Amino acid sequence: MNYSRRDFLKMAGAGAGALALGGLGINYLVTESYAKKLKIKGAKEVISICPFCSVSCHFIAHVKGGQVVSTEGDPGYPISEGALCAKGATMMSMINSHHRVTKPLYRAPYSDKWEEKSYSWMVETLARRIKDTRDKHFVSTNEAGQKVNRLDAMFHAGSSQMSNEECSIVVQAQRALGIVNFDHQARI
Ligand code: SF4
Repeated sequence: MNYSRRDFLKMAGAGAGALALGGLGINYLVTESYAKKLKIKGAKEVISICPFCSVSCHFIAHVKGGQVVSTEGDPGYPISEGALCAKGATMMSMINSHHRVTKPLYRAPYSDKWEEKSYSWMVETLARRIKDTRDKHFVSTNEAGQKVNRLDAMFHAGSSQMSNEECSIVVQAQRALGIVNFDHQARI
């Protein structure tokens, strides 16, 4: 019988592996008593996606009392089969870091201070500035009289935290606005 690492931990935690492991001549009692002390005991497993690059490895977050108490690679995810690179392996410290920004922050031009704003304020302000910039700088014909319909005054940088589907929608929106200057930060 083949067991995945996840199956093994589940069996050890529940004691259900007793017969199987005992049949193999393995003393499961040590593993079982260790599993009972694990910080993930009684935690809820939530599958999430590493945000650090476009490989998008799945990881398991163990949640207890509303707090993530542990993270590990998801062996059920066929691309990485439970493996995480050095960045993904630090997920836990990123999630619980006191440096983590959890609310929208805005720094006004020439200001040295960040102000907390609502998401709706951010979206409305961005939309207003994009519209104003486009209205001011959109070029429909070039000097030779050729139709170009482009907006050189804006640049878009994509993020590794976007999925393929989000990238597709964003690029279509950029093209619709006439933006021709864009790049993407995704990397492996
Ligand atoms: S390769 Fe590393 S950074 Fe990229 S998604 Fe997987 S764990 Fe995250």
